[in-house]
Amino acid sequence: MANDVYKRCDFCGKSEMKVKNMFTAGQHSICDECVTYCYDILRDQGLTPSDLHIMPEEVKQPTVDLKKPAEIKAVLDEYVIGQEDAKVTLSVAVYNHYKRILSLEDSDDVEIQKSNVLLLGPTGTGKTLLAQTLARLLNVPFAIADATTLTEAGYVGDDVENVLTRLIQAADYDVEAASKGIIYIDEIDKIARKSENTSITRDVSGEGVQQALLKIIEGTVSNVPPQGGRKHPHQEFIQIDTKNILFICGGAFEGLENTIKKRTDSSSMGFGGNIKNKDEEVNVMKKVLPQDLVKFGLVPELVGRLPVITVMEELDEAALCRILTEPKNSLIRQYTKLFRLDDIDFTVTEEAKEEIAKLTIAQKTGARGLRSIVERLLTKLMFEAPSDPSITGITITPEVVRGEAEPEITRLPASSASKKTGKSKQEQGA
Ligand code: ADP
Repeated sequence: MANDVYKRCDFCGKSEMKVKNMFTAGQHSICDECVTYCYDILRDQGLTPSDLHIMPEEVKQPTVDLKKPAEIKAVLDEYVIGQEDAKVTLSVAVYNHYKRILSLEDSDDVEIQKSNVLLLGPTGTGKTLLAQTLARLLNVPFAIADATTLTEAGYVGDDVENVLTRLIQAADYDVEAASKGIIYIDEIDKIARKSENTSITRDVSGEGVQQALLKIIEGTVSNVPPQGGRKHPHQEFIQIDTKNILFICGGAFEGLENTIKKRTDSSSMGFGGNIKNKDEEVNVMKKVLPQDLVKFGLVPELVGRLPVITVMEELDEAALCRILTEPKNSLIRQYTKLFRLDDIDFTVTEEAKEEIAKLTIAQKTGARGLRSIVERLLTKLMFEAPSDPSITGITITPEVVRGEAEPEITRLPASSASKKTGKSKQEQGA
């Protein structure tokens, strides 16, 4: 056997002439049939190709972890407070979108249309967070673009194609994975053409960007520069087909409620008068129809490519308080953990949370304002506390939030020396 000219499989004994592939390491060989046989045994034991660090072509798994709408919503619930309508609508849209991609190969009779989504709602209400959480839970690449920075090719600014470059970069240049990713385009309302809804002279500047966006949203094979930036001749391009990329667009669409109200009032022959409060504004927004968006200044073709429309609610005091504590990576959880590492118990009283929420509402920046308020309250403490080993607790009261008092600090009794070393209890092995 040792003199055999041809290698033989150490497992089944077949000669390399009889098999497609023979893998050799030193003195030992194994044929492709035995590898497949072993692989089947491992797969029956529940191991996936990625567990095995192999990905043969025929067992290539879809990159998307497709979950049922209720499962998608349950994960969104862990990160996003409120926004029930938006979460349900998005869960269904995303489920259908990825089901469509995964079924593309086997059915060509019924073509399921792509379900790109439009999120309407004020800033800081969780639009980006929703899109980001979706991408993470589906395990697909994700990129964010701000529509206001986009320009038509040839103008100063970001080419629309650069959005695709960012997605490819997020996928680590795996174009196949990127072509099933999610792109969130923020401030889509800011590229509306102005002529329909305001009195200023016709402004078509946004229309060119809308047309450029439309192309990639509806599905095209786009040539993108691998490093982003301006396209120039003699440059190498990456080709990416955008037909399976899910686009989620978001915008505040300020003033849209008046357009909707005018339409609904005239169709019901009523005289509704002005919108009185935020609740009424949201309720009016929920009646949005594609024609209202066209009136607002989006080109009809683009509106047509965003068939799923959902409205985000303004966050009230109760919701902001929940955002402070409930999400998996809520601000208070993050700070509690940071202080815990220095062996300090961090507490924010319920009343203090309400006070923080009130301040945030006054700033009109949605939940985004929470972080800046909490950071302002804690910067000094985060600086001083680690150097003062006698501190064991910090409590934030409403007076602290209002700037009327300093945070309450609990210290070890002066006689106790256990923290005086400056080491945390963990470091001391306690
Ligand atoms: P938008 O895109 O609507 O302007 P973001 O999603 O960027 O707002 O929200 C900004 C930050 O505020 C998020 O990172 C998150 O920490 C917080 N946030 C906003 N809305 C919510 C929400 N509904 N639930 C939990 N956190 C939220």
